[in-house]
This record gives sequence, C-alpha cells and structure tokens, in this order.
Amino acid sequence: MRFRKTVPPVTPPRRPTQEQEPASPEITEMSPGILRSQLPISLPGLGHVNCYFLEDERGVAVIDPGMPGPASWRALVHRLKQAGYRPRHVHTVVVTHSHPDHFGGAGRLRDVYGSEVITHRSFRTWFDPADDEALPTPAGEAPSVGPWDHALPWRDGTTFRPPMPRRVNIGLYRLALKRFMRTPAPTRRVDDAEVITLGRRPWVSLHTPGHTNDHLCLFDPVAGIVLSGDHVLPTITPHISGLVAGADPLSEFFASLDKVAALHGVQLVLPAHGQPFQNLASRANDIRAHHQERLDRLRTAAEELGDASVEAYSHELFKPRSWGQLAESETYAHLEHLRITGEMVSHHQAGALHYRLIETR
Ligand SMILES: [Zn+2]
Ligand SMILES: [Zn+2]
Repeated sequence: MRFRKTVPPVTPPRRPTQEQEPASPEITEMSPGILRSQLPISLPGLGHVNCYFLEDERGVAVIDPGMPGPASWRALVHRLKQAGYRPRHVHTVVVTHSHPDHFGGAGRLRDVYGSEVITHRSFRTWFDPADDEALPTPAGEAPSVGPWDHALPWRDGTTFRPPMPRRVNIGLYRLALKRFMRTPAPTRRVDDAEVITLGRRPWVSLHTPGHTNDHLCLFDPVAGIVLSGDHVLPTITPHISGLVAGADPLSEFFASLDKVAALHGVQLVLPAHGQPFQNLASRANDIRAHHQERLDRLRTAAEELGDASVEAYSHELFKPRSWGQLAESETYAHLEHLRITGEMVSHHQAGALHYRLIETR
C-alpha cells in the first residue's frame, strides 16, 4: 500500500493588522484642526506611525514626528506641505514616549526651526549622554548609541539587542542612528494633569507608564479626544519591557490602563499606530484581560514546569516565530509581577534566572 504524501496543513497567510498597514499618503481631518498624517516606518509589527498636526493661529503642533533619519524627515516635510505647512510653522512637538518611531524629527525641529519639544517629566532615551559616558567604547568600534551593552537580568553574560528594522545590518543601523540622531532634549517637561493648549484646545497631560516609564497621553476633556500614543492601540498590545527602571512595569501598566478607562466623555481615541476608535474603556479592559490571561498561563506553566528559566516560560507564552529577547523581556516583566505580588520566587541557576510558584500547601 502506498501512502500519499501528506500535505502540510496550510496556515492561511495572516492578514496585516491595522498597525502593520503601510502609511497612507492622505492627510485626514479627524476633528476640527486635528489632521492625521502617516509616516512610513518598518519595525516588527508596525508599518506606519500616526503623526498628528494640531492647527492654530501660530502654525501647527506635531505629535510624534516619526523615525530618526533622512527618509522619515523627507516624509514629514512632504506631509506638512500637503497640509499647507513648512517645518518653520511647527511651533511645538509633543513626543508621547522615548521610542525612536515617535521622537525621530523632534531634535531637528528644535535645533533648526526652534520648535518647543514637550515630553513627560521622566523622558529619557537610550541615547542620553549620561548613558554613553558610562559605557566605555572598545577601540575601533562605533560608540554605543543604544542599550546593547545593558545586561539581561534573566541571562548572565548576555546583552540586549533592541528591535531592528527588518533586513538591516546592525552595524549600519548603529552608525545611521549615530549620524542622524539628534538627541531630542525636551524644552518643556510636563507632569501628570497639566494643561497644555495646542490646536486651540486645552489638553490635559496623562502620565501613563507601562509601555515605557515616560509615556504621555493627552486628553481634550471638552471634545472628549484622547491622543493615546502607544499606551492603547486598536488591535495590538504594546510591548511591556522587563528592562525599564520601574520595579513592576506590568502593575504600572495596569494602573495606567485603569486611568484612561476612567476618563469621562471620551468620544474619539487617536492612537500612534492604526485607526481611530471610540471605545477606550473597553479596549483598555481588553488589554488588561490579555495580560491577566498571560499571567494565568504562566501560573499553569509553572505548575507543569516546576522551576524554569525565563526563556522556557517565554516559549509557553509566544509562538516560535516570536521567540527571542523581546518575548523574553515581556515574559520577564510578567514573571517579576508574579514575584513582586508574592506568587513566585526566583533564583539564579546555570547562568539563568529561574522562577517557580511559592508552595502554598
Ligand atoms: Zn513605543
Ligand atoms: Zn510606537
């Protein structure tokens, strides 16, 4: 008897998420005086960043002016032109948080065009001079411009490699960052619950740590509009890194989700990636539930594995195509949450950090 060759099960190609779609060439008015432009980016899971223009009698404020580098800058200048502006009309830049797809054009707008750069009080990038001075550069190597030299807390002797644009040589990427990066030193750092007038509207600043320590959302309580940055995205959940300074970034993220879910009168949410949406509270609650479900999966995995490394736990949470340092970083944040809240203990074993459930019986 002959067997037919078995045909491997065909997994249908995954439809791109809203956040992965390529940048639209259109300028779209989201609400009077709030224009959305999309700038192209190529990061894992992301095809564009929404750069909003808030118009007033002085010109325009821009929210999250794209990636560092000439291509993103050209796209920004082109989009401004489509909307009737030149870079010199940009009086203010708001950077929602310290990721490069959000602060790219900020330094150039500040240095060349005198724009004010607004961030949260705690804004800090990998590129801050304090970090670079502390890290000696081996002879002949490009100086460190990233967190490459930061040790992973869960793997002894291993350093972090940040997400790279796809198909880019890491050395070239480092050099490109070095060459085109203008450290976007803010000219104005705001605290939680300050009022900033932009686009003829009063915006209340909302410090929303979790995705990063310095994440800032803006809320116009009159029209019920939220600029949500990466804190709440329409279909994907932002990466929660175990490598940030806070002791328990997941707890901070939960508190920040509750904070925006409790806002009254929200009519429109304008995220940094993907399409606008209305249901902020239910979206925030769904994201919270997603992380609770991951915590449950870790509890179940711990019962089966007994005592396991962060890498082993990450394989329980993520599909093989996502395995690696980002998956481990997010898993580490969840395991640390369980440790800090008293459900797990950790110890070093064979060069790696291991976690197990605390025996309750
Ligand atoms: Zn981000
Ligand atoms: Zn982003």
